[in-house]
Amino acid sequence: MADGTLDMKRIVKASREFSRPFRVDRGRGFRLKDIDPGDTGALGDEDKPRAQEALEVGRNALAELQDMLYAQDRWAVLLVFQAMDAAGKDGAIKHVMSGVNPQGCQVFSFKAPTSEELDHDWMWRCMKSLPERGRIGIFNRSYYEEVLVVKVHPEFLAAQKLPPQLIGRDLWDNRYQDIRAAERYLSRNGVLIRKFFLHVSRAEQKKRFLERIDEPEKNWKFSAGDVKERGHWSAYMDAYETMIRETATQESPWYVVPADNKWFTRVVVAAAIIDALASLDLHYPKVDREKLSQLAVAKKSLLAEKR
Ligand code: ATP
Ligand code: MG
Repeated sequence: MADGTLDMKRIVKASREFSRPFRVDRGRGFRLKDIDPGDTGALGDEDKPRAQEALEVGRNALAELQDMLYAQDRWAVLLVFQAMDAAGKDGAIKHVMSGVNPQGCQVFSFKAPTSEELDHDWMWRCMKSLPERGRIGIFNRSYYEEVLVVKVHPEFLAAQKLPPQLIGRDLWDNRYQDIRAAERYLSRNGVLIRKFFLHVSRAEQKKRFLERIDEPEKNWKFSAGDVKERGHWSAYMDAYETMIRETATQESPWYVVPADNKWFTRVVVAAAIIDALASLDLHYPKVDREKLSQLAVAKKSLLAEKR
């Protein structure tokens, strides 16, 4: 808007409309092959600058919503990011959250579990990293790895030191069930959950790996193990599809975000987060009469100071 303030209502409406096509809140019947990683909605390459502007506006809107979330101190927001390597998780988190007050936001990355973590149940490390009320917590990978990489590589399950009699055919179904239960529990406690699967194509991943090899400033991002993981592509896609079918619910939906075009991914993610925060009906805490009179007294005393 011309006066520099945000037309929040309009931004919220546009964000909802823009992100809804990618939202899966009823898992049954979901098929990954219905989502094209190269999709850019109705936008073409020529719309890139406009998308960048929209992202900037979105960032400001997010900052304002987060400020209210923090002041209100009732809800917590948990954003979960899952993806194949080089799908752009880190970049999406960095770009979308860059306008947000760091005091109200925390990012946790979950890698292969440590020996201390393996001495606990698999939810443990994530549960102790949950956001406080008033905060946004970001999980860069999460407990969902337990039905992804661990499902694709049974040797990781063997390392989890579970009592053998608990490892049966229904192990994965039990894990989905436990995730649904945990998320329902959190929702009922005022933790708003939104989950993002950045869906990159195998061809685009190859391109990005080659860039990591060819461009010296990207070399650090490259890990030889990631190329090996590509070999399990279809097992991963099956695991992602089942995960979404089993865990997409109204209260904690998945967003399956096309990820072959980073600029588009970021706008969808920002829009989905704005939509989520706006659904909370946030407002600054109301100031009661007593507080108002305290403010008046304090002002009077400040103005009465000699210097
Ligand atoms: P990223 O790969 O997320 O961009 P990174 O390259 O910095 O981050 P890595 O050291 O590659 O971090 O750690 C991520 C790896 O840890 C992934 O391959 C992931 O599958 C694996 N991982 C995460 N959680 C688990 C788990 N519970 N069991 C086994 N492996 C896991
Ligand atoms: Mg990695």
